[in-house]
Amino acid sequence: LQSGTAAMSRNIFDPYNAIADATEQFISQAEDKQIALELELPDPMPKVFGNPDRVEQILVILIDNAMKYTPTGGTVCVRAVEKPEWLEVSVSDTGVGISTQDLPHVFERFYKVNKARGKTGTGLGLAIAYEVMSGLGEKIWADSEPGKGSRFAFTLHYTQEQPPEA
Ligand code: ATP
Repeated sequence: LQSGTAAMSRNIFDPYNAIADATEQFISQAEDKQIALELELPDPMPKVFGNPDRVEQILVILIDNAMKYTPTGGTVCVRAVEKPEWLEVSVSDTGVGISTQDLPHVFERFYKVNKARGKTGTGLGLAIAYEVMSGLGEKIWADSEPGKGSRFAFTLHYTQEQPPEA
């Protein structure tokens, strides 16, 4: 993975398709599970610096988790908000949430909360998301209110000059 991120091409691009395509992959799953899947994007969408394939891949990981840990009747919202130096892309859910003890560890490899739940998964999705975003010089983080929901967010800087240190 490290060599992959090092070799990753980076461009200025419009992230609309990456975000919309990732979200669209979950439309039928959301219907089946009766979860409201929402998409809120700025119009016009600003261009950002990075790699559209990686953005889509990271969003698929985050939306997949949000769907997995949100019960029927809940809401999953994919949102992009313009901040001064970056676009902040987030996936919020009204799911089970993550305890304050577990929250600092969710980006670690093989970390799984409450294994007894029997949810499928390797515990690698968020670790991959973290490595990819760090490799791009972007930040990714999580907030949660246990029992109410979680919010995973990442930055996409507008230009090459601005990304923070990886
Ligand atoms: P996979 O590698 O298939 O995604 P996974 O979901 O177990 O498997 P991660 O995506 O790395 O692995 O997530 C790590 C852990 O963080 C999960 O096992 C889960 O306990 C917790 N988690 C992740 N996203 C959420 C969420 N939206 N709501 C509640 N818990 C979550």
